[in-house]
Amino acid sequence: MKEFDTIAAIATALGEGSISVIRVSGTDAVSVVDKIYRGKKSLATVDSHTMNYGSIIDPQTGERVDEVFCAVFHAPRTYTGEEVVEIQGHGGIVAVQRVMRLVLNHGARLAEPGEFTKRAFLNGRIDLSQAEAVIDVIRSKTDAAMKVAFRQVEGGLSKKIKELRQKMVEMLAHIEVTIDYPEHDVEDVTIQHVITQGDSIVEEIHRLLGGATTGKILREGLKTVIIGKPNVGKSSLLNALSRTNRAIVTDIEGTTRDILEEHINLRGIPLNIIDTAGIRETEDIVERLGVERSREALEEADLVLFMIDASRPLNEIDRELAEAVKIRPTIVILNKTDLPRLADLEELRTLAGDFKIVETSVATGEGMEQLERAVEDLFLSGGIEGQESTYLSNARHVALLEKAGREMSEALDSARMGMTLDLVAVDVRSCWMSLGEVVGEAVADDLLDQIFSQFCLGK
Ligand code: GDP
Ligand code: ZN
Repeated sequence: MKEFDTIAAIATALGEGSISVIRVSGTDAVSVVDKIYRGKKSLATVDSHTMNYGSIIDPQTGERVDEVFCAVFHAPRTYTGEEVVEIQGHGGIVAVQRVMRLVLNHGARLAEPGEFTKRAFLNGRIDLSQAEAVIDVIRSKTDAAMKVAFRQVEGGLSKKIKELRQKMVEMLAHIEVTIDYPEHDVEDVTIQHVITQGDSIVEEIHRLLGGATTGKILREGLKTVIIGKPNVGKSSLLNALSRTNRAIVTDIEGTTRDILEEHINLRGIPLNIIDTAGIRETEDIVERLGVERSREALEEADLVLFMIDASRPLNEIDRELAEAVKIRPTIVILNKTDLPRLADLEELRTLAGDFKIVETSVATGEGMEQLERAVEDLFLSGGIEGQESTYLSNARHVALLEKAGREMSEALDSARMGMTLDLVAVDVRSCWMSLGEVVGEAVADDLLDQIFSQFCLGK
Protein backbone atom coordinates (compact mmCIF):
# COMPACT_ATOMS: atom_id res chain seq x y z
CA MET A 1 0.00 0.00 0.00
CA LYS A 2 1.22 3.45 -0.82
CA GLU A 3 1.36 6.00 1.99
CA PHE A 4 -0.94 8.94 1.59
CA ASP A 5 -2.26 11.59 3.89
CA THR A 6 -5.74 11.16 5.27
CA ILE A 7 -8.61 12.64 3.30
CA ALA A 8 -12.29 13.12 4.09
CA ALA A 9 -15.46 14.08 2.26
CA ILE A 10 -19.18 14.05 2.76
CA ALA A 11 -20.15 11.07 0.60
CA THR A 12 -23.92 11.59 0.51
CA ALA A 13 -25.70 14.39 -1.26
CA LEU A 14 -26.27 17.26 1.15
CA GLY A 15 -29.83 17.73 2.29
CA GLU A 16 -31.11 14.45 0.91
CA GLY A 17 -32.38 11.61 3.08
CA SER A 18 -32.01 11.27 6.79
CA ILE A 19 -28.66 9.49 6.86
CA SER A 20 -25.44 11.20 5.89
CA VAL A 21 -22.11 9.56 5.35
CA ILE A 22 -18.67 11.04 5.82
CA ARG A 23 -15.94 8.94 4.30
CA VAL A 24 -12.40 9.15 5.70
CA SER A 25 -9.49 7.39 3.99
CA GLY A 26 -5.76 7.19 4.64
CA THR A 27 -3.19 5.80 7.02
CA ASP A 28 -4.55 7.79 9.98
CA ALA A 29 -8.25 7.41 9.19
CA VAL A 30 -9.00 5.36 12.30
CA SER A 31 -6.99 7.50 14.71
CA VAL A 32 -8.43 10.73 13.32
CA VAL A 33 -12.02 9.60 13.85
CA ASP A 34 -11.17 7.99 17.18
CA LYS A 35 -10.25 11.43 18.55
CA ILE A 36 -13.85 12.60 18.20
CA TYR A 37 -15.69 9.29 18.69
CA ARG A 38 -17.03 7.90 21.96
CA GLY A 39 -18.45 4.38 22.02
CA LYS A 40 -18.17 1.11 23.89
CA LYS A 41 -14.71 0.49 22.46
CA SER A 42 -12.15 2.74 20.86
CA LEU A 43 -12.17 2.35 17.07
CA ALA A 44 -8.50 1.39 17.22
CA THR A 45 -9.49 -1.89 18.87
CA VAL A 46 -12.51 -2.95 16.80
CA ASP A 47 -12.43 -5.55 14.04
CA SER A 48 -12.32 -4.70 10.36
CA HIS A 49 -15.63 -4.39 8.50
CA THR A 50 -17.69 -3.71 11.63
CA MET A 51 -20.34 -1.12 12.44
CA ASN A 52 -19.84 0.62 15.76
CA TYR A 53 -22.52 2.60 17.54
CA GLY A 54 -21.51 5.73 19.42
CA SER A 55 -21.37 9.51 19.41
CA ILE A 56 -19.30 12.24 17.83
CA ILE A 57 -18.07 14.58 20.55
CA ASP A 58 -16.42 17.96 20.20
CA PRO A 59 -13.35 17.29 22.37
CA GLN A 60 -12.95 20.99 23.20
CA THR A 61 -16.41 21.50 24.63
CA GLY A 62 -17.35 17.90 25.37
CA GLU A 63 -20.59 18.53 23.49
CA ARG A 64 -22.27 15.62 21.70
CA VAL A 65 -22.61 16.66 18.06
CA ASP A 66 -24.30 13.60 16.54
CA GLU A 67 -25.33 10.04 17.18
CA VAL A 68 -23.49 7.81 14.70
CA PHE A 69 -22.50 4.44 13.38
CA CYS A 70 -18.83 4.25 12.50
CA ALA A 71 -17.94 1.61 9.94
CA VAL A 72 -14.29 0.63 10.17
CA PHE A 73 -12.53 -1.00 7.21
CA HIS A 74 -8.90 -1.96 7.52
CA ALA A 75 -6.62 -1.93 4.47
CA PRO A 76 -6.26 -3.38 1.95
CA ARG A 77 -9.74 -4.77 1.30
CA THR A 78 -11.43 -1.38 1.15
CA TYR A 79 -12.69 0.88 -1.61
CA THR A 80 -9.47 2.89 -1.71
CA GLY A 81 -7.16 0.11 -0.57
CA GLU A 82 -6.35 2.25 2.49
CA GLU A 83 -7.68 2.45 6.05
CA VAL A 84 -11.25 3.68 5.71
CA VAL A 85 -13.80 4.88 8.27
CA GLU A 86 -17.34 5.84 7.32
CA ILE A 87 -19.29 7.91 9.78
CA GLN A 88 -23.03 7.53 9.34
CA GLY A 89 -24.89 10.30 11.10
CA HIS A 90 -28.55 11.01 11.66
CA GLY A 91 -28.57 14.61 12.68
CA GLY A 92 -29.25 16.40 9.40
CA ILE A 93 -27.26 18.90 7.45
CA VAL A 94 -25.97 21.12 10.26
CA ALA A 95 -24.73 18.20 12.31
CA VAL A 96 -23.02 16.64 9.27
CA GLN A 97 -21.14 19.79 8.59
CA ARG A 98 -20.08 20.09 12.22
CA VAL A 99 -18.86 16.49 12.22
CA MET A 100 -17.03 17.16 8.96
CA ARG A 101 -15.34 20.20 10.46
CA LEU A 102 -14.23 18.16 13.47
CA VAL A 103 -12.78 15.49 11.20
CA LEU A 104 -10.85 18.14 9.29
CA ASN A 105 -9.63 19.74 12.52
CA HIS A 106 -8.27 16.45 13.79
CA GLY A 107 -5.88 15.47 11.06
CA ALA A 108 -7.78 14.87 7.82
CA ARG A 109 -7.77 17.03 4.73
CA LEU A 110 -10.74 17.76 2.48
CA ALA A 111 -10.65 15.34 -0.45
CA GLU A 112 -10.42 16.68 -3.96
CA PRO A 113 -13.13 15.59 -6.42
CA GLY A 114 -12.42 12.04 -7.51
CA GLU A 115 -9.57 11.60 -5.04
CA PHE A 116 -10.98 8.47 -3.36
CA THR A 117 -11.28 6.85 -6.76
CA LYS A 118 -7.82 8.00 -7.76
CA ARG A 119 -6.42 6.30 -4.68
CA ALA A 120 -8.36 3.16 -5.43
CA PHE A 121 -6.62 3.13 -8.81
CA LEU A 122 -3.17 3.96 -7.44
CA ASN A 123 -3.53 1.21 -4.87
CA GLY A 124 -4.54 -1.27 -7.54
CA ARG A 125 -8.12 -1.73 -6.31
CA ILE A 126 -9.64 -0.82 -9.68
CA ASP A 127 -8.17 -0.39 -13.12
CA LEU A 128 -8.03 2.81 -15.11
CA SER A 129 -11.17 2.25 -17.16
CA GLN A 130 -13.14 1.62 -13.98
CA ALA A 131 -11.65 4.70 -12.31
CA GLU A 132 -12.49 6.84 -15.31
CA ALA A 133 -15.99 5.43 -15.35
CA VAL A 134 -16.52 6.33 -11.70
CA ILE A 135 -15.53 9.88 -12.54
CA ASP A 136 -17.98 9.77 -15.44
CA VAL A 137 -20.73 8.68 -13.06
CA ILE A 138 -20.00 11.59 -10.78
CA ARG A 139 -20.06 14.03 -13.65
CA SER A 140 -22.53 12.59 -16.11
CA LYS A 141 -25.42 14.92 -16.59
CA THR A 142 -27.92 12.70 -18.31
CA ASP A 143 -29.46 9.40 -17.28
CA ALA A 144 -28.25 7.74 -20.44
CA ALA A 145 -24.66 8.78 -19.87
CA MET A 146 -25.01 7.57 -16.29
CA LYS A 147 -26.07 4.10 -17.37
CA VAL A 148 -23.19 3.74 -19.81
CA ALA A 149 -20.77 4.82 -17.11
CA PHE A 150 -22.25 2.47 -14.51
CA ARG A 151 -21.87 -0.55 -16.72
CA GLN A 152 -18.23 0.36 -17.08
CA VAL A 153 -17.70 0.63 -13.32
CA GLU A 154 -18.79 -2.94 -13.05
CA GLY A 155 -15.75 -3.73 -15.11
CA GLY A 156 -17.58 -4.95 -18.21
CA LEU A 157 -15.16 -3.26 -20.54
CA SER A 158 -12.04 -4.16 -18.59
CA LYS A 159 -13.08 -7.78 -18.27
CA LYS A 160 -13.56 -8.04 -22.04
CA ILE A 161 -10.28 -6.34 -22.70
CA LYS A 162 -8.41 -8.63 -20.35
CA GLU A 163 -9.86 -11.65 -22.14
CA LEU A 164 -8.77 -10.25 -25.50
CA ARG A 165 -5.28 -9.54 -24.25
CA GLN A 166 -5.02 -13.05 -22.85
CA LYS A 167 -5.88 -14.43 -26.29
CA MET A 168 -3.14 -12.29 -27.79
CA VAL A 169 -0.59 -13.55 -25.29
CA GLU A 170 -1.51 -17.07 -26.40
CA MET A 171 -1.09 -16.08 -30.05
CA LEU A 172 2.31 -14.61 -29.29
CA ALA A 173 3.33 -17.70 -27.36
CA HIS A 174 2.49 -19.84 -30.42
CA ILE A 175 4.48 -17.51 -32.63
CA GLU A 176 7.49 -17.54 -30.30
CA VAL A 177 7.56 -21.34 -30.23
CA THR A 178 7.35 -21.51 -34.00
CA ILE A 179 10.18 -19.03 -34.42
CA ASP A 180 12.35 -20.76 -31.81
CA TYR A 181 11.81 -24.30 -33.12
CA PRO A 182 11.49 -23.94 -36.88
CA GLU A 183 12.42 -27.58 -37.48
CA HIS A 184 9.02 -28.64 -36.22
CA ASP A 185 7.52 -27.23 -39.37
CA VAL A 186 4.51 -25.95 -37.50
CA GLU A 187 4.48 -22.65 -39.28
CA ASP A 188 1.34 -23.32 -41.33
CA VAL A 189 -0.52 -24.48 -38.26
CA THR A 190 0.56 -21.38 -36.35
CA ILE A 191 -0.46 -19.05 -39.14
CA GLN A 192 -3.86 -20.72 -39.31
CA HIS A 193 -4.19 -20.35 -35.54
CA VAL A 194 -3.17 -16.69 -35.67
CA ILE A 195 -5.72 -15.97 -38.40
CA THR A 196 -8.57 -17.71 -36.57
CA GLN A 197 -7.81 -16.05 -33.23
CA GLY A 198 -7.10 -12.68 -34.83
CA ASP A 199 -10.39 -12.69 -36.73
CA SER A 200 -12.33 -13.33 -33.56
CA ILE A 201 -10.42 -10.57 -31.76
CA VAL A 202 -11.14 -8.02 -34.50
CA GLU A 203 -14.78 -9.03 -34.41
CA GLU A 204 -14.94 -8.60 -30.63
CA ILE A 205 -13.24 -5.19 -30.84
CA HIS A 206 -15.84 -4.07 -33.36
CA ARG A 207 -18.60 -5.29 -31.09
CA LEU A 208 -17.14 -3.28 -28.21
CA LEU A 209 -16.87 -0.24 -30.44
CA GLY A 210 -20.48 -0.57 -31.50
CA GLY A 211 -21.46 -0.12 -27.88
CA ALA A 212 -18.86 2.53 -27.16
CA THR A 213 -20.02 4.79 -29.96
CA THR A 214 -23.30 5.28 -28.16
CA GLY A 215 -21.35 6.53 -25.17
CA LYS A 216 -19.31 8.80 -27.32
CA ILE A 217 -22.24 10.55 -28.93
CA LEU A 218 -23.52 11.46 -25.49
CA ARG A 219 -20.54 13.70 -25.13
CA GLU A 220 -19.02 16.60 -26.96
CA GLY A 221 -15.85 16.52 -28.99
CA LEU A 222 -12.52 18.13 -28.26
CA LYS A 223 -12.68 21.83 -28.87
CA THR A 224 -10.25 22.41 -31.69
CA VAL A 225 -9.16 25.74 -33.10
CA ILE A 226 -7.31 26.22 -36.39
CA ILE A 227 -5.20 29.31 -36.20
CA GLY A 228 -2.76 31.07 -38.52
CA LYS A 229 -2.22 34.19 -40.56
CA PRO A 230 -4.41 35.01 -43.58
CA ASN A 231 -4.16 32.64 -46.53
CA VAL A 232 -2.11 29.90 -44.85
CA GLY A 233 -4.83 27.39 -45.71
CA LYS A 234 -7.06 27.20 -42.61
CA SER A 235 -10.35 26.90 -44.46
CA SER A 236 -8.81 24.45 -46.90
CA LEU A 237 -7.68 22.31 -43.98
CA LEU A 238 -11.08 22.40 -42.34
CA ASN A 239 -12.70 21.38 -45.63
CA ALA A 240 -10.20 18.59 -46.19
CA LEU A 241 -10.67 17.24 -42.67
CA SER A 242 -14.45 17.32 -42.92
CA ARG A 243 -14.41 15.67 -46.32
CA THR A 244 -12.31 12.69 -45.33
CA ASN A 245 -13.65 12.13 -41.85
CA ARG A 246 -17.15 10.94 -41.21
CA ALA A 247 -18.97 13.58 -39.23
CA ILE A 248 -20.65 12.60 -36.02
CA VAL A 249 -24.18 13.86 -35.96
CA THR A 250 -24.87 15.41 -32.62
CA ASP A 251 -27.59 17.61 -31.37
CA ILE A 252 -26.26 19.36 -28.35
CA GLU A 253 -28.71 21.51 -26.51
CA GLY A 254 -27.82 25.13 -26.04
CA THR A 255 -25.53 25.38 -29.04
CA THR A 256 -25.73 28.98 -29.97
CA ARG A 257 -26.57 29.96 -33.51
CA ASP A 258 -23.64 32.26 -34.05
CA ILE A 259 -21.03 29.61 -33.50
CA LEU A 260 -20.27 27.28 -36.36
CA GLU A 261 -19.13 23.89 -35.27
CA GLU A 262 -17.72 21.24 -37.53
CA HIS A 263 -17.91 17.81 -35.91
CA ILE A 264 -15.47 15.35 -37.28
CA ASN A 265 -14.30 11.93 -36.22
CA LEU A 266 -10.57 11.72 -36.64
CA ARG A 267 -9.43 8.13 -36.07
CA GLY A 268 -12.07 7.72 -33.40
CA ILE A 269 -11.31 11.03 -31.76
CA PRO A 270 -14.30 13.36 -31.84
CA LEU A 271 -13.11 16.82 -32.78
CA ASN A 272 -15.35 19.79 -32.60
CA ILE A 273 -13.71 22.39 -34.78
CA ILE A 274 -15.05 25.78 -33.90
CA ASP A 275 -15.38 28.83 -36.05
CA THR A 276 -16.89 31.98 -34.70
CA ALA A 277 -19.60 33.50 -36.85
CA GLY A 278 -18.61 34.93 -40.19
CA ILE A 279 -15.05 33.76 -40.16
CA ARG A 280 -15.77 31.62 -43.12
CA GLU A 281 -17.16 34.49 -45.13
CA THR A 282 -14.32 36.87 -44.50
CA GLU A 283 -12.01 33.87 -44.54
CA ASP A 284 -9.72 34.95 -41.82
CA ILE A 285 -9.62 35.05 -38.06
CA VAL A 286 -6.48 37.15 -37.74
CA GLU A 287 -7.52 39.76 -40.26
CA ARG A 288 -11.04 40.11 -38.92
CA LEU A 289 -10.54 39.76 -35.23
CA GLY A 290 -6.86 40.44 -34.74
CA VAL A 291 -4.39 38.52 -32.68
CA GLU A 292 -6.18 39.54 -29.49
CA ARG A 293 -9.35 37.74 -30.48
CA SER A 294 -7.37 34.72 -31.61
CA ARG A 295 -6.09 34.57 -28.06
CA GLU A 296 -9.65 34.40 -26.75
CA ALA A 297 -10.44 31.56 -29.13
CA LEU A 298 -7.30 29.81 -27.86
CA GLU A 299 -8.40 30.00 -24.28
CA GLU A 300 -11.45 27.91 -25.09
CA ALA A 301 -9.50 25.32 -27.03
CA ASP A 302 -8.56 21.78 -26.01
CA LEU A 303 -6.37 21.45 -29.09
CA VAL A 304 -4.81 24.03 -31.40
CA LEU A 305 -3.78 23.46 -35.01
CA PHE A 306 -1.36 26.28 -35.73
CA MET A 307 -0.67 26.78 -39.43
CA ILE A 308 2.41 28.31 -41.02
CA ASP A 309 2.77 29.07 -44.72
CA ALA A 310 5.94 27.42 -46.04
CA SER A 311 5.86 29.51 -49.21
CA ARG A 312 6.15 32.84 -47.42
CA PRO A 313 8.77 34.14 -44.96
CA LEU A 314 7.77 34.04 -41.31
CA ASN A 315 6.40 37.36 -40.16
CA GLU A 316 5.26 39.19 -37.03
CA ILE A 317 1.83 37.53 -36.99
CA ASP A 318 3.45 34.08 -37.04
CA ARG A 319 5.69 35.07 -34.15
CA GLU A 320 2.88 36.56 -32.08
CA LEU A 321 0.65 33.56 -32.64
CA ALA A 322 3.52 31.20 -31.80
CA GLU A 323 3.79 33.00 -28.47
CA ALA A 324 0.01 32.87 -27.93
CA VAL A 325 -0.41 29.13 -28.61
CA LYS A 326 2.05 28.19 -25.87
CA ILE A 327 -0.80 27.94 -23.36
CA ARG A 328 -2.50 25.06 -25.19
CA PRO A 329 -1.66 21.63 -26.61
CA THR A 330 -0.69 22.52 -30.15
CA ILE A 331 0.38 20.90 -33.38
CA VAL A 332 2.29 23.15 -35.75
CA ILE A 333 1.40 22.61 -39.39
CA LEU A 334 3.84 23.78 -42.03
CA ASN A 335 1.51 24.00 -45.03
CA LYS A 336 2.00 24.54 -48.78
CA THR A 337 5.10 22.37 -48.92
CA ASP A 338 4.30 21.84 -52.61
CA LEU A 339 5.48 25.41 -53.27
CA PRO A 340 9.08 26.71 -53.13
CA ARG A 341 10.02 27.15 -49.49
CA LEU A 342 10.62 30.65 -48.15
CA ALA A 343 9.83 30.10 -44.47
CA ASP A 344 12.93 29.71 -42.33
CA LEU A 345 12.72 26.20 -40.88
CA GLU A 346 15.38 26.93 -38.28
CA GLU A 347 13.39 29.82 -36.83
CA LEU A 348 10.18 27.82 -37.04
CA ARG A 349 11.75 25.06 -34.94
CA THR A 350 12.62 27.62 -32.30
CA LEU A 351 9.12 29.10 -32.40
CA ALA A 352 7.50 25.67 -32.18
CA GLY A 353 9.45 24.72 -29.05
CA ASP A 354 8.22 21.33 -27.82
CA PHE A 355 5.29 21.20 -30.22
CA LYS A 356 5.36 18.71 -33.03
CA ILE A 357 5.75 20.15 -36.55
CA VAL A 358 3.93 18.36 -39.36
CA GLU A 359 4.58 19.26 -42.99
CA THR A 360 1.53 19.26 -45.23
CA SER A 361 0.23 20.33 -48.53
CA VAL A 362 -3.50 20.54 -48.07
CA ALA A 363 -3.75 21.18 -51.80
CA THR A 364 -2.19 17.85 -52.79
CA GLY A 365 -3.13 15.87 -49.68
CA GLU A 366 0.53 15.33 -48.84
CA GLY A 367 1.12 14.96 -45.08
CA MET A 368 -2.55 14.72 -44.08
CA GLU A 369 -2.00 11.20 -42.85
CA GLN A 370 0.91 12.36 -40.65
CA LEU A 371 -1.22 15.21 -39.32
CA GLU A 372 -3.97 12.81 -38.30
CA ARG A 373 -1.43 10.57 -36.66
CA ALA A 374 0.05 13.52 -34.76
CA VAL A 375 -3.39 14.42 -33.37
CA GLU A 376 -3.97 10.80 -32.43
CA ASP A 377 -0.58 10.46 -30.72
CA LEU A 378 -1.04 13.64 -28.74
CA PHE A 379 -4.49 12.55 -27.63
CA LEU A 380 -3.59 8.97 -26.74
CA SER A 381 -0.49 10.03 -24.84
CA GLY A 382 -2.73 12.14 -22.62
CA GLY A 383 -1.27 15.36 -24.05
CA ILE A 384 -4.73 16.82 -24.57
CA GLU A 385 -6.75 17.49 -21.47
CA GLY A 386 -10.25 18.67 -22.09
CA GLN A 387 -11.48 21.61 -20.09
CA GLU A 388 -14.72 19.67 -19.82
CA SER A 389 -13.04 16.33 -19.31
CA THR A 390 -16.20 14.25 -18.96
CA TYR A 391 -16.00 12.90 -22.47
CA LEU A 392 -12.30 12.23 -22.44
CA SER A 393 -12.13 8.80 -20.90
CA ASN A 394 -14.77 7.48 -23.18
CA ALA A 395 -13.34 9.06 -26.31
CA ARG A 396 -9.91 7.83 -25.31
CA HIS A 397 -11.22 4.28 -25.00
CA VAL A 398 -12.89 4.48 -28.38
CA ALA A 399 -9.76 5.82 -30.04
CA LEU A 400 -7.58 3.14 -28.45
CA LEU A 401 -10.00 0.38 -29.43
CA GLU A 402 -10.08 1.63 -33.01
CA LYS A 403 -6.30 1.74 -33.05
CA ALA A 404 -6.14 -1.80 -31.66
CA GLY A 405 -8.60 -3.00 -34.31
CA ARG A 406 -6.44 -1.54 -37.07
CA GLU A 407 -3.31 -3.10 -35.63
CA MET A 408 -4.83 -6.56 -35.43
CA SER A 409 -6.18 -6.22 -38.98
CA GLU A 410 -2.68 -5.38 -40.13
CA ALA A 411 -1.32 -8.44 -38.35
CA LEU A 412 -3.93 -10.53 -40.16
CA ASP A 413 -3.07 -8.99 -43.53
CA SER A 414 0.59 -9.84 -42.97
CA ALA A 415 -0.28 -13.38 -41.95
CA ARG A 416 -2.49 -13.87 -45.01
CA MET A 417 0.12 -12.42 -47.35
CA GLY A 418 2.71 -14.87 -46.03
CA MET A 419 4.93 -12.35 -44.23
CA THR A 420 7.33 -13.73 -41.65
CA LEU A 421 5.93 -14.44 -38.23
CA ASP A 422 8.08 -11.83 -36.48
CA LEU A 423 6.37 -9.17 -38.57
CA VAL A 424 2.97 -10.51 -37.62
CA ALA A 425 4.05 -10.52 -33.99
CA VAL A 426 4.96 -6.82 -34.14
CA ASP A 427 1.36 -5.84 -34.93
CA VAL A 428 -0.13 -8.28 -32.44
CA ARG A 429 2.13 -6.76 -29.78
CA SER A 430 1.04 -3.19 -30.68
CA CYS A 431 -2.56 -4.27 -30.45
CA TRP A 432 -1.92 -5.84 -27.05
CA MET A 433 -0.34 -2.58 -25.86
CA SER A 434 -3.14 -0.36 -27.15
CA LEU A 435 -5.72 -2.42 -25.30
CA GLY A 436 -3.51 -2.33 -22.20
CA GLU A 437 -3.68 1.43 -22.27
CA VAL A 438 -7.47 1.33 -21.99
CA VAL A 439 -7.24 -0.40 -18.65
CA GLY A 440 -4.10 1.50 -17.66
CA GLU A 441 -1.97 -1.58 -17.34
CA ALA A 442 1.78 -1.58 -17.50
CA VAL A 443 2.78 -1.90 -21.10
CA ALA A 444 5.51 -3.86 -22.85
CA ASP A 445 7.57 -4.74 -19.78
CA ASP A 446 5.42 -7.57 -18.52
CA LEU A 447 4.56 -9.06 -21.89
CA LEU A 448 7.51 -11.46 -21.89
CA ASP A 449 6.68 -12.64 -18.37
CA GLN A 450 3.14 -13.29 -19.45
CA ILE A 451 4.24 -15.23 -22.49
CA PHE A 452 6.50 -17.36 -20.35
CA SER A 453 3.85 -18.05 -17.74
CA GLN A 454 1.73 -19.15 -20.67
CA PHE A 455 4.30 -21.79 -21.59
CA CYS A 456 4.26 -23.16 -18.07
CA LEU A 457 0.50 -23.30 -17.97
CA GLY A 458 -0.10 -24.60 -21.44
CA LYS A 459 2.68 -27.09 -21.93
P1 GDP B 1 -7.08 30.77 -44.90
O1 GDP B 1 -7.17 32.23 -45.19
O2 GDP B 1 -6.01 30.50 -43.93
O3 GDP B 1 -8.38 30.17 -44.54
O4 GDP B 1 -6.57 30.09 -46.28
P2 GDP B 1 -7.42 29.34 -47.39
O5 GDP B 1 -7.77 27.98 -46.95
O6 GDP B 1 -8.55 30.21 -47.80
O7 GDP B 1 -6.33 29.22 -48.51
C1 GDP B 1 -5.74 30.36 -49.11
C2 GDP B 1 -5.23 29.95 -50.49
O8 GDP B 1 -4.16 29.03 -50.38
C3 GDP B 1 -6.29 29.29 -51.35
O9 GDP B 1 -6.16 29.74 -52.66
C4 GDP B 1 -5.95 27.82 -51.24
O10 GDP B 1 -6.35 27.10 -52.38
C5 GDP B 1 -4.44 27.88 -51.15
N1 GDP B 1 -3.86 26.72 -50.45
C6 GDP B 1 -4.24 26.16 -49.31
N2 GDP B 1 -3.43 25.13 -48.99
C7 GDP B 1 -2.49 25.04 -49.97
C8 GDP B 1 -1.37 24.19 -50.22
O11 GDP B 1 -1.05 23.28 -49.45
N3 GDP B 1 -0.63 24.44 -51.35
C9 GDP B 1 -0.95 25.44 -52.20
N4 GDP B 1 -0.17 25.59 -53.27
N5 GDP B 1 -1.99 26.24 -52.00
C10 GDP B 1 -2.77 26.08 -50.91
ZN1 ZN C 1 -10.08 30.79 -44.19
